[in-house]
Amino acid sequence: MSEVNYGDDLLPKYFFDRLTDITPRDLKEMGALAVAIDIDNTIADDGAFHLFHGVRAWVKQIREAGYGVIILTNTFPLRAKFIAHLLGGIPYVAKAEKPKAKGFLKAAAMLGVPVENLAMVGDQLFTDIKGANNVGAIPVRIKYNKPEVLLYFHYKKLRDKEKNYLTAKGYGDKT
Ligand SMILES: [Mg+2]
Repeated sequence: MSEVNYGDDLLPKYFFDRLTDITPRDLKEMGALAVAIDIDNTIADDGAFHLFHGVRAWVKQIREAGYGVIILTNTFPLRAKFIAHLLGGIPYVAKAEKPKAKGFLKAAAMLGVPVENLAMVGDQLFTDIKGANNVGAIPVRIKYNKPEVLLYFHYKKLRDKEKNYLTAKGYGDKT
């Protein structure tokens, strides 16, 4: 039993295993008009420059269904630009400093949708989900792909905190 001292702002509204499991129908049911996607452990390995299988086709499919897709990442601009290019030149916000509101607001503005209708899809409660909740966007959490290699001990602690939090909230099976 571990005590959880975090607020409800860390709580995702929707859970999926992978980004590519999300369908246009799911987005419609969420009330989303556009999607912001994280990079690390959401569409690529931590620090990597190549995409997970199926991500490129997923972005194409979602865009063809009428949803704007934007990258919203804390990574550096050159990497974000490179990955955005791999995805067909979609827009991106780099160095977003999630969970700060500014990146979410900028992403929504760039896609021309109210931030309330922007689904934020990411793997991290303390950045993607917290930021989305605080700004009124739709928080969608996917499972992280595998333990991060960079800053291993930092992330191990973070993942343990996430696991404890979700377990305490009754979502232990989602970690
Ligand atoms: Mg991530």
